[in-house]
Parts: sequence; C-alpha cells; structure tokens
Amino acid sequence: MTRQGIRERVEREEETRFAPYAVRSQDSRGRAHPEKEHEARTVFQRDRDRIIHSTAFRRLQYKTQVFVNHEGDHYRTRLTHTLETCQIARTIGRALSLNEDLIEAISLAHDLGHGPFGHAGEWALSELMKGHGGFEHNVQSLRLVEKLEEIHPDFSGLNLSYEVREGLKKHPERFRERGKARFRSVEAEVVDQSDEIAYTCHDLDDGLRAQMISEEGLEKVALWRELQSYIRKKYPKIENAYRRRLTIRLLINRLVMDLVETTRRHLKRLGVSGVQDLQKIKGALVATSASMVRKRVELRRFLHANLYQHYRVVRMTEKGQRFIRKLFEAYLEKPGQLPPSVKDRVGKDGLHRAVCDYIAGMTDRYVQDEYKRLFEPFERV
Ligand code: MG
Repeated sequence: MTRQGIRERVEREEETRFAPYAVRSQDSRGRAHPEKEHEARTVFQRDRDRIIHSTAFRRLQYKTQVFVNHEGDHYRTRLTHTLETCQIARTIGRALSLNEDLIEAISLAHDLGHGPFGHAGEWALSELMKGHGGFEHNVQSLRLVEKLEEIHPDFSGLNLSYEVREGLKKHPERFRERGKARFRSVEAEVVDQSDEIAYTCHDLDDGLRAQMISEEGLEKVALWRELQSYIRKKYPKIENAYRRRLTIRLLINRLVMDLVETTRRHLKRLGVSGVQDLQKIKGALVATSASMVRKRVELRRFLHANLYQHYRVVRMTEKGQRFIRKLFEAYLEKPGQLPPSVKDRVGKDGLHRAVCDYIAGMTDRYVQDEYKRLFEPFERV
C-alpha cells in the first residue's frame, strides 16, 4: 500500500462502521482556504491535531473552570474540563457509531475562547465591550480558530473544516450571520450535551471537595439520593472520600447511558438516513429521557443556589472581574503599554477589540502577574 492510500483506507472503514447519520470525513465541505489532503490523516484528525498544538489550547491549563487556579491543585481547570468533555463525548460517539474524530476536534476546541477567571471573566469582558461588538466565549472560540491563531503564512487562523467550525456555534443566535442555521450534526450536539454532563459532575465533585456544598444538603436532590441508597447497599462500610468519587463515577455513567439509549431510540424514530436529513429536523437530535431531564435540572438548580453563589466563589468571581476591568482601563488609557504584537492588531481590529482579544487570551496567572507589573510600584515591568 502506498502512503497515499492510508487515509483512503480509514475513510473506507468509516463507511462500514458509521451510522447513516454520522458525518463521513470524505464528505466534509472542506476548509475556507483549500489545502492538499494529508496522506494518512482524515480532515477531522488533522483539525484535532491543529487544535491540540495551538497556543490557545495550552493556555487552558491555567484558566479557571469554577475554582481559580491558585485555590488548589486538584480542582478542575479549563483544560481538564475540556478533556473530561472530550472523553464523555467520545464514549457517546462510539456507542452511537458517530465520527469520533469530528467529536474530538469540536470538544477540544469548544472552550478555547474562554477568558481568564471563567464566566466571571466573560461577564466583565462583555460589559467592557458593550457598544464595541460585545464578548461571548463561544463566539471567541470561533474567532480564535478562524482569525487569531497563526500557523500558516498564507492564511490566518487554523483553517479548520466547515463541520468543526459549525460545531463550535453552540448558541447559533449569538453568531454574526444571524438567521443562518447552524449546520447540524449529531456529533456537535453530542459535544454540547457532554459539556453539560462534564461540568455538572465535576463541579459537584469540586464543590464537595471544597466543602462549599455538603452531602446532607444534597439529600434534597433525587439523583444524589438514588445513588447513595445504591452505594449504601453495595458498600455499607465505604469511607467518605471514596463515596464521593464513586458517586461521581456512577453519576457520569447514568447520565451518559441514559443519553445513549434515549438518543438511539430518538434517531431511529426520526428515520434519519443521512446528514442531509438532519438539516430539516426541528428540535434536538440528541436526547435525554424526560425523567432524567427533570433530575438533571434539579441538580443544576442545587449547584446554582449552593455552589455558584457560595460567598467564596463570589469572592473569586469579583476579584477576577476587578483585575480584568483594571487592565482593560489601563490599556485603553495608555495604549503605549500594549506589547507590539497587540499594537499591530489595533490598526486591524480597533483598540477595544485588540485589548479584548489580548485579555481574553490571558491565563488567570498571567492576569495576576500583569496586574502587578502595571500597578505595583516596585514590580519589574
Ligand atoms: Mg465547556
């Protein structure tokens, strides 16, 4: 076999392995800037690799999920959240005979646009960008892969395939070409749902670890109660730390398996015979059973009321926003403080957008260091 034949073989294997509604790599609508196909990797494998090798991806390790990085070494970061999302989505994708490479690429890129300090950072930036085009992390993820990452002399961005870029439009109404429907794939919707499963489970875990929420408090939540009664029967002598870990594992499994089963039945009922059919369907492609939706909502509400509003989380949030506002104002007041690479973009994008992109790209710790450099009198600049 020639080297040239490797990708073709992988693509042929997809034909036999994939469900009729899965996206086939060779059917991709391709890239904005046409490139020669790789000899061994499919279009989506190549996209995945570009994402992993991007600068934005490496920064995820020092960006907040809920807990600011310096609060502890065991809390989720934006990077571990991304990996958990990816792993859950791939399990679902394999079970439903979908294109796992496409799933992997979308998952790994889905949070690239998050600024420092998680949602707190996003709120601050969107406030500061009012009247200047706004800021939203999903939109920023797409902006990063389409414009800001630099890997090639001939084009800006990572030049990812159409299907991956569309997969990043989680809330299509927030994107510029409003009114234009998102290209629908089961793969993209699996990633959207896996994102929620991942953060629900790991925030619960981190919240318990930080003792911001308690097991007693969780007794109000049906999902928690069901899992505990199962665990008590099976392991009557289990220790607390094990119980927490076991609960999280069982919880992920329940949510994933419910979604796999319900979605399989749902897609069968819809009678989808190809990706084109998906475009005409109204309503979700990926589904959770009605009873599990109710339980998921109940758990989400519990986390909103007890974890995300916990005074220590609110403090972290406020502190993060304060840093961001201060930096933003300082750069606007004296753009001469911006490094040359950012100043170069001012001409192209305007001062507000260039500053916003600069700050959105920062990790939590970079923001803190930069704050010291700008405001601490005896800190080196
Ligand atoms: Mg996410």
